[in-house]
Amino acid sequence: MWCAERQIGLLLVVLWLVLPKAFGNALEPVVLQLPWHHQFQFAGYYAAQSRGYFTDAGLDVEIRNGFHPSGAMVNTVEEVVFERAQFGVGRSELMIHHGRGLPIKVLANILQRSPLVFMTLEEYNLTRLEDIGDRPISLTLPTGRSGEIIAAETLAALNSAGVDYRTLNNRPPTWNMEDLISGVTQLMPGFATDDPYVLAQRGVTPVSISPTEYGVDFYGDMLFTSQYQARNNPETVSAFRAAALKGWRYALQNPQEMAALIISEYGTRGPDYDLAFLLQEAAQMKEFMQPDLIEVGYINPERWTNIAELYLAQGLIDRYSLEDFLYQDAPVQLTLREQLPWILGASLLLLAILGVALWLHLTNLQLVLEVRQRERVESRLRYQAEKDALTGLDNRYQFHQRIEDDFTQARQTGAPLSVMMLDIDHFKQINDTHGHLAGDRVLQEIARLCQEEIRATDLVCRYGGEEFAFVLLHTPIEVAVLIAARIAAESPENPVEYDGKSIACTVSIGLAELTDEDSNAEALLKRADTNLYQAKANGRNQIFY
Ligand code: GH3
Ligand code: MG
Ligand code: MG
Repeated sequence: MWCAERQIGLLLVVLWLVLPKAFGNALEPVVLQLPWHHQFQFAGYYAAQSRGYFTDAGLDVEIRNGFHPSGAMVNTVEEVVFERAQFGVGRSELMIHHGRGLPIKVLANILQRSPLVFMTLEEYNLTRLEDIGDRPISLTLPTGRSGEIIAAETLAALNSAGVDYRTLNNRPPTWNMEDLISGVTQLMPGFATDDPYVLAQRGVTPVSISPTEYGVDFYGDMLFTSQYQARNNPETVSAFRAAALKGWRYALQNPQEMAALIISEYGTRGPDYDLAFLLQEAAQMKEFMQPDLIEVGYINPERWTNIAELYLAQGLIDRYSLEDFLYQDAPVQLTLREQLPWILGASLLLLAILGVALWLHLTNLQLVLEVRQRERVESRLRYQAEKDALTGLDNRYQFHQRIEDDFTQARQTGAPLSVMMLDIDHFKQINDTHGHLAGDRVLQEIARLCQEEIRATDLVCRYGGEEFAFVLLHTPIEVAVLIAARIAAESPENPVEYDGKSIACTVSIGLAELTDEDSNAEALLKRADTNLYQAKANGRNQIFY
């Protein structure tokens, strides 16, 4: 009985999902989040849209470019994990996010090789990462900030070149090639598919250093979704994937048409990115996709194993599961027209039993939906339980977890360990003078600064209202003092613009290094806190240890 009931249930689910589509009911709205500006890099998706492949698949797709209205770059992983978008385009870093617990599933590898290169100019005479020295550069390097964009190829290439990224004279990239021309930076990340061309157009001689020269050969763009989508909406995922890949095949065969469409329908980021640019990009894309040799979208688990092993070796992840990470193509999908006779036949046959089975099934479906809803909420709650909502930093609870571990480890290895407590000076006045929202912005700015000044292995958390706590691994007090001094000096120099006013603040910092007398982590923290109190008492805007 149970078995029969399940089969009926299953058929009903199929009907439930397919019938509305077959009879032309509303299309399912989904969002595709791109990581960058509209250009040929995403031509396959525009083709699927303009050729009606998405509509044929029952989908109403909104394609979003990779920037917030403010100009800030969108974090595609967050968009998809938090289900503001159902699909996203990402890079090999997805595996790191997955390895760190984010529910991601890769659906298709679009670029079989990564177009990421390090761009410099001939005049800077820099051809090897080993020779960076103290030149001003701007690469995406770890800051330890939560939600940060991880640039695994950069790290892996620097590592294999024997360059310690922490020693570099680095500013985060603006992705603006003008900085390279003006000399603000001498090395920045670029895409082999666009930047050499744009630079050459500007009359300078670009030089590209490729991560592949350092044995780093990753995938480029890939289509991904969340585990929730893959599990709960397998038909949508499969249909979207098939339509997108069909779009890609079309786009590669019709570059001229697609380039014109991108300009007229989507608009590129500026006049430099004209038809000629898009067409050269199309040619480059073909190189990176190799559609004549490799089926578009093909996922090679063996290559992923190599990438995963490299990440493991570099300590970027400590486990991986390809089975969970990579999409398994569903059995061949029938087209709607092929499905229709089957659906009608099955419907007639089943009509008699439907009535009884229907409510049984609906109750069951309801339960399943509730369970899934709860899973989502739980995952979100887990994030919220660890993070401070205003600054995105870890919260106090996480900090205590971490410092306990670090304390034990430092005791075992004898490595130095320092902690710092930072408190904003006269913060109440800022709230009183400029309002609470301005105060919030100041908190975010200080949080950003703190993150920027520490290493990936260190931790800063929002400890309380306007108080931040740091744990610095393998760091003796002399070094911790340097970090503290940098933050203290930078705070007043980075005012927040709010409501036409410029709001600057100073900070007081107390530090302490682990000693033999500290019987637990709490004791160490307590000493830092006492020192903070002393810094305040001594007149603020200073550090004390
Ligand atoms: P001191 O130099 O002695 O540290 O003076 P202070 O004014 O910074 O310190 P006090 O502890 O008197 O005031 C801290 C203020 O921080 C009071 C509280 O309203 C404010 N605060 C705490 N959390 C937040 C927040 O999330 N947003 C904003 N805007 N203000 C906050
Ligand atoms: Mg204060
Ligand atoms: Mg305080």
